[in-house]
Amino acid sequence: MNKIYFLAVIIFPFVNWSQHKFAQLDELLPTPNEFRNAAGAPGHNYYQQKADYKINVSLNDADQTIHGEEIITYTNNSPDNLEYLWIQLDQNRKNLDSDSKLIQVEKMEDFKSISDLELKTFYFDGGFKIEDVTAIDGQPLSYFINKTMLRINLKNILASKSSISFKISWWYHINDRETLNARSGYEYFPKDKNYLYTIAQWFPRMCVYNDVEGWQNKQFLGKGEFTLPFGDYEVNISVPSGHIVTATGELQNQKDILSPIQLERLENAKVSDEPLFIITPEEALRSEQMKSKALKIWKFKAENVRDFAFASSRKFIWDAQGIIVNGKTIMAMSFYPKEGNPLWEMYSTKLVAHTIKSYSKYTVDYPYPVAISVHSKWIGMEYPMICFNGGRPNEDGSYAEQTKYSMWGVIIHEVGHNFFPMIINSDERQWTWMDEGLNTFVQYLAEQEWERNYPSKRGPAENIVNYMSGDKVNISPIMTNSESVLQLGNNAYGKPATALNILRETIMGRELFDYAFKTYCERWKFKHPTPADFFRTMEDASAVDLDWFWRGWFYSTDHVDVAITAVTHFKEASSNKNSKILETLPFNKEQLPNTNDLPIGYIRNQRSISETLNEKDITINDHYGWKRKAFNDSISKYIYTNDVLHKEYDFENNQEKYYYEINFKNEGGLVSPIILRAFLEDGTTEIIRIPVEIWLLNTLEVSKIFVFKKKVKGFRLDPFLETADTELSNNFWPAKNTLSRFQLFMQSKN
Ligand SMILES: [Zn+2]
Repeated sequence: MNKIYFLAVIIFPFVNWSQHKFAQLDELLPTPNEFRNAAGAPGHNYYQQKADYKINVSLNDADQTIHGEEIITYTNNSPDNLEYLWIQLDQNRKNLDSDSKLIQVEKMEDFKSISDLELKTFYFDGGFKIEDVTAIDGQPLSYFINKTMLRINLKNILASKSSISFKISWWYHINDRETLNARSGYEYFPKDKNYLYTIAQWFPRMCVYNDVEGWQNKQFLGKGEFTLPFGDYEVNISVPSGHIVTATGELQNQKDILSPIQLERLENAKVSDEPLFIITPEEALRSEQMKSKALKIWKFKAENVRDFAFASSRKFIWDAQGIIVNGKTIMAMSFYPKEGNPLWEMYSTKLVAHTIKSYSKYTVDYPYPVAISVHSKWIGMEYPMICFNGGRPNEDGSYAEQTKYSMWGVIIHEVGHNFFPMIINSDERQWTWMDEGLNTFVQYLAEQEWERNYPSKRGPAENIVNYMSGDKVNISPIMTNSESVLQLGNNAYGKPATALNILRETIMGRELFDYAFKTYCERWKFKHPTPADFFRTMEDASAVDLDWFWRGWFYSTDHVDVAITAVTHFKEASSNKNSKILETLPFNKEQLPNTNDLPIGYIRNQRSISETLNEKDITINDHYGWKRKAFNDSISKYIYTNDVLHKEYDFENNQEKYYYEINFKNEGGLVSPIILRAFLEDGTTEIIRIPVEIWLLNTLEVSKIFVFKKKVKGFRLDPFLETADTELSNNFWPAKNTLSRFQLFMQSKN
């Protein structure tokens, strides 16, 4: 019986090799082709369609309706001839008979009252009323509406490399954003009887046609967001003359809209180091009261964007500040009612400016002329150049620390969406994680550069542990369609953000990771990437085989739980110097000392971020901020700095050696590098980092021998909480009941 035959007989019955934790992803990923290559880059025949819009829209403040008329020019850059075009009618999700309403799973206990039930189950007709679909010459076009999708039946095919223009006119009722818990709509302020509109998904928008899906015309059910082609926009927005309007793009007719003094303020803001008012709180208050009924048209232009949103209100205070990214001035701006203050005038525009600079470093240079944050009570929702963000203080202007952090987090997050998916334009209808996960990851980096030890909710490995160790019935793999994802926040935001953080801190290291991540962003800016393009680029640019990582973290629901199950101590018998016989010694069962080291990100950021924004600009610190700063200063003293990276090869001749055989068990299923801290007898510690490939031949149990110059008192796995190991109690030898790192830290402080 030869060896190969023996292996085949013994191993094949037990291991399904395509499911093996280190199996390559080949059968799971699409075959590389001329459009997307095997390196994860756009292929030599990559193409994408273009959709340009000219829109006239009027916002009726008296009856809260939108009336619009658009000319879409659609350019077919694909090699295919098209018989029909698909257009998205997202507002039809608010039709009285929409599928979203029908498939909503309900129990009476989910609602506060019958009227709450009626509101939330949309007894509100907010669907599109399509008035006309015509050719440019006014001739009607044949079309069919299938729920949230409209198909134009072309008389003549739209040939490859040609374009077509057509007109659509429509209107709809704007919903109350809060009661419907919607991405867009209005908020009514009963005290001064004014509306604040944040308007999105408000016009019929082209679907994406590409090499991956053909037409991406999966119905809009509410959870899976948007998939849109790039194009240029010219949009004229008619509103009551007291309204201030802000939108995707650059304002074209400020000279007709703003007073000379406001125009001057706008010029000054371009070169200001801090936000300046364009519309002051006093001016906004006057507009609130005047309620002028005359109309004004605000004209905007935006190039190379995938969508267009706007906001309008008499209540808007407007501030702005110019920032420079790679030699280009970008206007960071905020629009908010007085109800947003004091938080908004203190922070919003500074957060926009910080986010744009921070993301530009890790992804691509921000390419647009403006970046805007608009106040809306509770939500966070993103569009190109503009986003709607929550964070409202109490009526008396006081606010909880949590309100401040929610506001900071949501503004960094939503402004960050400019990069994912507005520039790196992934398919949100299919994959929520591709924009939310990547964005949440960079959000974590930006937060840590805003305030030292910012209490980031998502990103650090230890924050995902509860989710990862939860009941598998309530967990889906990251690679699940947006509509079917269980626990969307954990699965599509938290877990992928953590996975990327683990790649950066532990698997690849910061230098390799940052280069590969930036390569992905540069390759796919202003294009449509897929998961495979991301997976392939990260490997191709780093020389790190990550198929096991994508398989475990993105395609499975396994979690990391590595245990130390046995430690045996051997010593060379002194009488027998040159033999291999060792005497086994009992392991010292003394308890390990409590160590005060912090999670890996804290330690590394302490060194890598020389100055956070709140250290440069101390006006960012309110009373909560100063308290936190004092706490951080005390933390930094506890950061463990005298770890030695263990080296087994620098022994001197005749030096005494201590051998330890350690047995590791993979209890969680997800394979992981082994990070071990050895506590030596003399009080020093050494860190050992073993790549994940130690599990290549046996993914359940491995053992390894370590040699030390000193006797070892004990070992600890994952000392910097960097692998998302869900069970800490089996990480110690001798075994001990463990507290979390923060509990340990707080205990030692007390
Ligand atoms: Zn988001």
